[in-house]
Amino acid sequence: MPELPEIETVKLGLKKYLVGHKIENIEVRIPKMFAGSAKQIIGVKIINIKRIGKGLIIEFENDYLLAVHFKMTGQLVFRDAKNNQPLSPKVGGDILPSKYSHIIFTLDKGAMLYYNDLRQFGWVKVLKKDELMHMPFFGEMGPEPKVGNDLAGKELTFDYFKSVLLKSNLPIKVILMDQKKIGGIGNIYANDALFKAGIDPRKKGKTLSGEELDKLYKAIFFVLEKSLEYGGSSDENFVNALGQDGAYQNHTLVYGKKGEKCPNGNGTIEKIQLGGRGTFFCPACQR
Ligand SMILES: [Zn+2]
Repeated sequence: MPELPEIETVKLGLKKYLVGHKIENIEVRIPKMFAGSAKQIIGVKIINIKRIGKGLIIEFENDYLLAVHFKMTGQLVFRDAKNNQPLSPKVGGDILPSKYSHIIFTLDKGAMLYYNDLRQFGWVKVLKKDELMHMPFFGEMGPEPKVGNDLAGKELTFDYFKSVLLKSNLPIKVILMDQKKIGGIGNIYANDALFKAGIDPRKKGKTLSGEELDKLYKAIFFVLEKSLEYGGSSDENFVNALGQDGAYQNHTLVYGKKGEKCPNGNGTIEKIQLGGRGTFFCPACQR
């Protein structure tokens, strides 16, 4: 599932390529994936792209926006005469629309925008701007780490981070991935941040020391910023706004590395199940 750095990567791309365009037509091939009144946004200029947690928002010059939830395998790919480089195989074909293109936006100036989704769990919704925070997915999103230079959601401060962790009897990794408590962090970055901080993912939130909280807070920013520099992780189906792969999957610390030597050189990475998710850690370094 795309997490904060992946959606942020798409946001930065769409800010560059999509802002200023107008949508001329919307072809919805799978009706359950599109909601709201398309006519409210046809012919209206796109003025900004925002992200809240793992959610993406396309803002129009009028009172409307498009809210996008990528769920497991969603992609938004922009194409025009200048931006038509070879596509990642993850988009489902050499050309777009592909077999995964379920919503097709025809834009002005000969450009196109494709919403692709292999597993078809994602959705795109036309909403009035003041309705966005009434949707539980956006309205209940917890504060999130500020990476990059702007933040549309609530900011994750150290004081809030500390209070939410020290109140909980759950394993620390499960708390990090609870979107209502902290927005944007999923399995890849929870695993890598806990390794970077030297904390056992099974340890209960309320047992963390002041030093551990401080290390973990910094480690979260470290791994998210590193992934953003690599253009996100294409371990699964993620591609950026031009249909290209990110590279963080080649630079993970422990995620996906069961049986490999720990990056610190003093242990072997193990995989366990925690809160129903595959959890990678080094028993020698993480206590
Ligand atoms: Zn180790």
